[in-house]
Amino acid sequence: MSKEVLECSFCGRKKAETNLLIAGLDAHICDRCIEQAHGIVVEEALHSTNNELSSELMLKKPKTIKAFLDDYVIGQEYTKKVMSVAVYNHYKRLLQPKTDDDIEIQKSNIIIVGQTGTGKTLIAKTIARMLNVPLAIVDATVLTEAGYVGEDVESILTRLLQAADYNLEKAQNGIVFIDEIDKIARKSDNPSITRDVSGEGVQQALLKLLEGTVVNVPPKGGRKHPDQKFIEVDTENILFIAGGAFDGIERHISKRLNMQAVGFSASKKEDGMERDHMLKYIIPKDLKDFGLIPEIIGRLPVLAYMNPLDKGTLRAILTDPKNAIIKQYKKLFEMDGIELIITEEALDFIVERAIEYKLGARGLRSLCEAVLTDAMFELPGTDDKKLHVTEDYVIEKLNKSTIKKLKAVS
Ligand code: ADP
Repeated sequence: MSKEVLECSFCGRKKAETNLLIAGLDAHICDRCIEQAHGIVVEEALHSTNNELSSELMLKKPKTIKAFLDDYVIGQEYTKKVMSVAVYNHYKRLLQPKTDDDIEIQKSNIIIVGQTGTGKTLIAKTIARMLNVPLAIVDATVLTEAGYVGEDVESILTRLLQAADYNLEKAQNGIVFIDEIDKIARKSDNPSITRDVSGEGVQQALLKLLEGTVVNVPPKGGRKHPDQKFIEVDTENILFIAGGAFDGIERHISKRLNMQAVGFSASKKEDGMERDHMLKYIIPKDLKDFGLIPEIIGRLPVLAYMNPLDKGTLRAILTDPKNAIIKQYKKLFEMDGIELIITEEALDFIVERAIEYKLGARGLRSLCEAVLTDAMFELPGTDDKKLHVTEDYVIEKLNKSTIKKLKAVS
């Protein structure tokens, strides 16, 4: 090739028109074409990671998902099973090849009913961790209808984008956990009496999001204003998990059951016992009677419930999960070369206090903190290589602490 015909073999620019012309075996490429080609490579890589993501997800069968949940979430067998299937179906839906058989798989968004501190958030977090997808945890109570004081429902997606480091692809395959969904229940039975800003209005606004739509999302959150740049987020493949305590929903359930079977609960004592486990009879109608609008219920088709945590479960939560509280403390002490030994009686005592103070699983950590703070302050840097925590040790530390004051809060 003679010197004067040197040109980019891709775009045909002469050498003089380029900043750089690189020679290959029998072709040349200019700087602009390199940049363009690089763009294509990046784009392709994104797609293939997406495909990788999909095939990785596809490998996780419901039993694998459940086994992963078992490592972190104690008890709640029914819910873990239901959620494993829902998550599996959700990703199957994403991967379904486009066919023309008219069968469209509906989104398997989930609603979990259960007292606070029973592990609703934990399940959502664990699923996101297993699938390695971004998770946004939002509180329904801060949401209001557009135009009112509070956050627009779009802010949910801002959070998800942030959780995904603004990687749109990732965000669009992520999980949103909406906590306290029961707090946006309709307050009055007659929807037409007043405008219900924080209740039904928000439910209406959530509908589209749950179902799948393209939303203009302000990337930094806050209110929409005219000259703000938006990111278009498609919620089609986002899995929504809603959770709420639904205090008092047992009344709706028992009323319905009583109507069906007269004499369902014969004695008062049985009544009290049953109440704790009434949730297992929950059906979507109970959510409607509580004040969720039917359209919302329809878009959260998977209904799961959490059992209240009994003594055995609380005891297991202390030591059994992969990142159990006691394991964490052991590790902390280990880093100072100290072995933490804690007796069964001491653990049982902590559990009993958690129950007595009505602190639930959340209280376990506060109690452990109250018991171990002195040692965590005193021991590092000393010659002590062992900390032996007995029941007496726990009693002594708890008597000194102010944790009893928490009792009133619960
Ligand atoms: P919720 O969302 O239902 O209010 P969380 O998931 O936030 O409750 O639970 C609070 C804490 O209690 C969690 O961080 C976890 O350590 C513990 N916890 C609650 N339930 C369980 C459970 N079933 N298994 C293991 N830990 C639990």
